Amino acid sequence: MNHDQARYGDDERYESLLSEKDSTEIDIETDADSPLPDDLTRDSVELPSLSEPEVTRHYTRLSQMNWSVETGPYPLGSCTMKYNPTFAEDVAADPNGAVHPDRSEESLQGTLEVLYHLQDYLARIGGMDAVTLQPPAGAAGEFTGILVAKAYHESRDDDRSEVIVPASAHGTNFASAAMAGYDVVELPSGDDGRVDLEALEAAVSEDTAALMLTNPNTVGLFERDIEEIAEIVHDAGGLLYYDGANLNALLGRARPGDMGFDVMHYNVHKTFATPHGGGGPGAGPVGVTEELAQFLPSPRVRERSGAYELYDPERTIGKVHGYQGNWLVLVKAYAYIARLGDAGLEDASAKAVLNANYLAERLDCEIPYEPFHHEFAATAGERDAADVAKHMLDHGVHPPTTKWPEFVPEAMLTEPTEAETIDSLNDLADAFNAAFAADSEALESAPSKTTARRIDQADAARNPQLSWQALEPSEE
Ligand SMILES: *Cc1c(COP(=O)(O)O)cnc(C)c1O
Repeated sequence: MNHDQARYGDDERYESLLSEKDSTEIDIETDADSPLPDDLTRDSVELPSLSEPEVTRHYTRLSQMNWSVETGPYPLGSCTMKYNPTFAEDVAADPNGAVHPDRSEESLQGTLEVLYHLQDYLARIGGMDAVTLQPPAGAAGEFTGILVAKAYHESRDDDRSEVIVPASAHGTNFASAAMAGYDVVELPSGDDGRVDLEALEAAVSEDTAALMLTNPNTVGLFERDIEEIAEIVHDAGGLLYYDGANLNALLGRARPGDMGFDVMHYNVHKTFATPHGGGGPGAGPVGVTEELAQFLPSPRVRERSGAYELYDPERTIGKVHGYQGNWLVLVKAYAYIARLGDAGLEDASAKAVLNANYLAERLDCEIPYEPFHHEFAATAGERDAADVAKHMLDHGVHPPTTKWPEFVPEAMLTEPTEAETIDSLNDLADAFNAAFAADSEALESAPSKTTARRIDQADAARNPQLSWQALEPSEE
């Protein structure tokens, strides 16, 4: 058994590290005047001595062993894995844009101008009065937004201890409310998959600080009672929080602010086509109504007689991230919004909803909750949704989100996004239907064409081995 097979199965693909392909001792010159102590300097270093084609092919092969939205459709429901257009990357790669954030405000005018306009774009898109660009992810936006809500209640000497979260909400909603110090009250879904108004009436009280909600909700249904929901929460003195993960369904058509939401986050890596996944960097700007603007994190950007400056909102909750936020992510979101314009954003949401509905129409499976918008929760029925997902991998597509939300049995939460063409939607539908037609043996043994076969997903998430050393085979 060779080194590679010891690490991977006999039939799995393996790419050697560059240092395994070659290791050459190369002499290096040390500076005689170096202030470094002798034991920290050396005369030679071991490096692979390889040609450019060898190195290029190595990295290209590695990239081909992975799956990405540049490879094919990536319909992970709730995640909105849109294709990220390269023009936004070009904007972010402009060397003039890579300025040190500690530079003086006068020398950062261009950067601040972009951030100022992005605050404004996002405020207009969400129907909010003020936006902070600081939080580095959607979850961080939730935490920030709930802290802002808390600061608001405290400023009124209004002691409230609970945040209401629907049972179908993303796990981060529960976590953000708990991290901000609130007791989380779980709201069961109604039989139609929406908020049950009677259950909400029963849950709100003078302890309610906020209700967190996404709309369309986690199975793609529009909460059509949203105005009544807002009234119930507001009458109890609470605030309404909008989880912006599903904003792609409403873009340019409806605004959370107009529905009665007081505070929201935007997942720019979902809605505005900035890269998503791999742990960041991301951005989760937060928008609020005028009443809450004074509590936003610092700094924000404002314009004063033609110049842009950073300032701290009057009763700010403080900093939630370094400097002005994740600039390189934010500038991509800015470029995307500016390029699409109002008409382009409206078109994106129309196509996102159309694509989801076209795809669903072609599937040989049940979709319990309708009418959905940009995503739908199909059910794998008697099959294990994870098996269906593994089988789909052999058809050259990425499977949907599985087994979430939990109230849909064997859920396959599917969101194709507006970026897919009718051909790739048909490929997706064929992959779904092939899995639904497969017998249990075929389902359980899938996938067979991927780089890695069935891995222990829980173990991979809990005990990740992220370095080469960790994977070294033990001596036989
Ligand atoms: C993705 C998502 C979040 C969290 O956003 P991150 O940017 O991944 O932290 C919150 N709520 C919903 C519904 C989501 O889909």
